[in-house]
Amino acid sequence: VVLILQVVDIIRTTYFNNNASQEVEGHSNQIKIGFSLGTLKEERWIKDRDIVMAKVKELGANIVVLNANNDDQDQLKQVKSLLTQNIDVLIIVPNDLNKAADAVELAKKQGVKVISYDRLVRNSGVDLYISFDNTKVGELMAQAVVDNLPEGNLLIINGATSDNNTIQIKEGYDKVLKERVKEGQFNIIAEEWAPKWMKEYAFRVTDELLQNQVKIDAIIAGNDGLADGIIEALSQHRLAGQTIVVGQDADLAGCQRVVEGTQLMTVYKPIDKLADATARMAIQLAKGEELSNIKSFINDGKYDVPYYVLEPIAVDKANMDDTIIKDGFHMYDEVYRNIP
Ligand code: BGC
Repeated sequence: VVLILQVVDIIRTTYFNNNASQEVEGHSNQIKIGFSLGTLKEERWIKDRDIVMAKVKELGANIVVLNANNDDQDQLKQVKSLLTQNIDVLIIVPNDLNKAADAVELAKKQGVKVISYDRLVRNSGVDLYISFDNTKVGELMAQAVVDNLPEGNLLIINGATSDNNTIQIKEGYDKVLKERVKEGQFNIIAEEWAPKWMKEYAFRVTDELLQNQVKIDAIIAGNDGLADGIIEALSQHRLAGQTIVVGQDADLAGCQRVVEGTQLMTVYKPIDKLADATARMAIQLAKGEELSNIKSFINDGKYDVPYYVLEPIAVDKANMDDTIIKDGFHMYDEVYRNIP
């Protein structure tokens, strides 16, 4: 009898309490945020997801998160699903800079405010674009190269063409390199775009050039994931640590390579600042409040949209401890794991 009562109790608490809480959620006045991520492939997106979720909850609101795994159609389906769940605000990391405009349009039709997170959705007039200054990311990468290489051959492996950040990063490094290329100080031997930011693609491009005996002095990688593929190829040709490689994101593996000397630098983007500001502003938008602290606008191809800009930081061996370690972005023991 005791056993039966226990089983009944388990069933009661598992099913009935869950149903009850769902009902309360559905009828409550609590704000609900939908967060649609284009991908979770790179390490940083896990941080983005976790911190945004934690902050939104801390501010007393609900959040539903979905990941589209680099698939445009899935992202649209997922946004549709979020919209049926009565979200007040949609935060979206677009998988495709243009196609995601359909999702934004659906949200707006339903009166749902939209925040374009880290990557800009073009031609869609979102309520807010929040990101690190991606042009500056490109400038920092190129500046590190020119500060460390008097002249030579450059290879550039950009991220996906479907990502607006790729365009902005290119604007940044072009700004630094243009005159120097014109004057013959640097020679760009190849420029490629990695579909879906695939590091295997970066590996292949680098490997093929090296097999053809092309001399490469420095490589600009769209992010640390691509730098990973590049450095793997360099190492197979016994060139890791000799050819300059720069990237961005401050992935743990990227930081390890920086202190080991196979990658010259990375660009550190403090994700907690981005996630924190996003959560705060999502709640403001949900309450119909004016966004404070917006000083810039960015043209999305059609509209000037409010743009909250954060500063990226160049990190090399010299300032690793004062930035990434100090902030707790990675732990000292992890970054220096392979250093005797
Ligand atoms: C982000 C990078 C990221 C890349 C691949 C870009 O839009 O800014 O931080 O590495 O996407 O996901």
